[in-house]
This record gives sequence, structure tokens and C-alpha cells, in this order.
Amino acid sequence: MNLKDYVASIHDYPKPGIIFRDISPLMADGAAYREATKQIVDYAKEKAIDMVVGPEARGFIVGCPVAFELGVGFAPVRKPGKLPRETISVSYELEYGTDTLTLHADAIKPGQRVLVCDDLLATGGTVKATIELIEKLGGIVVGCAFLIELEELHGREKIKDYDILTLMDY
Ligand code: IMP
Repeated sequence: MNLKDYVASIHDYPKPGIIFRDISPLMADGAAYREATKQIVDYAKEKAIDMVVGPEARGFIVGCPVAFELGVGFAPVRKPGKLPRETISVSYELEYGTDTLTLHADAIKPGQRVLVCDDLLATGGTVKATIELIEKLGGIVVGCAFLIELEELHGREKIKDYDILTLMDY
């Protein structure tokens, strides 16, 4: 199975000149979704992880089935104002302005081994902020798994000290 057959490429979305890579056909196909999940599970099995963490919203789609399959927990990273209890937060630079991500303050216990999951690695800002949140709580990021990497944006360089799995490159 070629997973790329299940990624839709939308030109000029959300802005002119951008090609948006859409994983919804992959999620909609049971066999493809399962195959992508299995590849990440196989990668994570060697790492003895305690938790999976994923940023909203597609990080949940990728990370939750991995956590379920491995029998470990999942913690959501969210935009400000979405998590109901005490949170920690990290802000990061966007092309224009900044963005903030939050995590429940008790989501990760010190020393826990964490896998970060998201659909796509672009500039790396989202995953870098997610890693910072986990490390603020004393977690150990043992890997980062993505369905897709946009190589020309060099996001990998922002997380070069971490182990990375990507299933498809563009
Ligand atoms: P980064 O922070 O620049 O690495 O962007 C990655 C984040 O933006 C991920 O959470 C993705 O879900 C989202 N993203 C950026 N570009 C795309 C795309 O082409 N398709 C789907 N999601 C994207």
C-alpha cells in the first residue's frame, strides 16, 4: 500500500501559493489508517513509551490510536482557553505574530517517556513548542512521529536533537 495515494493535495489553500496536504482520505480508509497507525506503533514499541502527546487537532487523530494500541495514555496539547484545569503554556513565533499552546500541568509525570504525534511537520514550530511543554513537566521526549514531512520547510532542523519518524515526504 502506498500511503501517498490517500493524501489529497489542495493547491492555493488556505492561501494562494500554498499546497495543503490533507490526510482526511487516509483517515476515511480503514486499511490505510490502520497501516499508518501500525507503522508508528512499530516505531514506538522499541522506545518503551509511557505517554503519547499530540497537538490539536490532527495530532489527536494520529496519536490516539497509537496510544490505544500500545496501552498507554494520551495527553492533548491545545490552544489557550480549551483545557479546564491548571495548565502550563509555551509561546512560539509564527511568520506573522506568535501562537501559544497549553498542556494540563499534571499531564506528564517527571521521567515519563513520551512520544509526540502529529499529522504533519512543516516549519517545526508546533512540535518544538509541544516538546517544550513536555520537558517543562519533566517528561523525556523519546521520539516524534508524523504522517507527513514538508522537507523544504526544514522543520527537522528545529528538532535535530530528537528522534524523528515520518511516513511520507513532500
Ligand atoms: P509547523 O508548526 O509549521 O511545523 O506546522 C505544523 C502544524 O500545522 C501541524 O499541526 C499541522 O497540522 C499544520 N499544518 C501545516 N501545514 C499543513 C498542511 O499542509 N496540511 C495539514 N496540516 C498542516
